[in-house]
Amino acid sequence: MKKIFLFSCLLAAITISSCAQQQVQQKFAVTKTDAEWKKILTPEQFAIARKADTERPFTGKYWDNHEKGTYYCVCCGVPLFSSETKFESGTGWPSFYAPLNKKYVGEREDNSLGVIRTEVYCTNCGAHLGHVFNDGPAPTGLRYCMNSASLNFKKQ
Ligand SMILES: [Zn+2]
Repeated sequence: MKKIFLFSCLLAAITISSCAQQQVQQKFAVTKTDAEWKKILTPEQFAIARKADTERPFTGKYWDNHEKGTYYCVCCGVPLFSSETKFESGTGWPSFYAPLNKKYVGEREDNSLGVIRTEVYCTNCGAHLGHVFNDGPAPTGLRYCMNSASLNFKKQ
């Protein structure tokens, strides 16, 4: 009886630890250590894109950018958003109503700050980009609220 109990405890422990590992180990095409990211990113870019910090509103490079072009991932360079879907949200963060390529713009649940939000991240390297909300304009009704520090804009 004791043996069976020990065995089921062991099984439960293995199941729990493998689930926990699965959550952490999402595979990305581009992976680097923190030290490697720090070499190519500014301290602000590293804190936001790699550690999910948020820049203060109205301080980023792109909230008030009205030039035509494409916004790329600051970490790995894949195209994420176009100036064509950028809109004035009044939030002080660059806001878009749709991603340029859904393949590279992933969503995952974020329970930090005691509220459930939808985090937006780069599916190619795992960079934190911002959050998406349901109060955006037509045609999607979505508001991709991004950090300038996670983006690299190139003029058309
Ligand atoms: Zn990326």
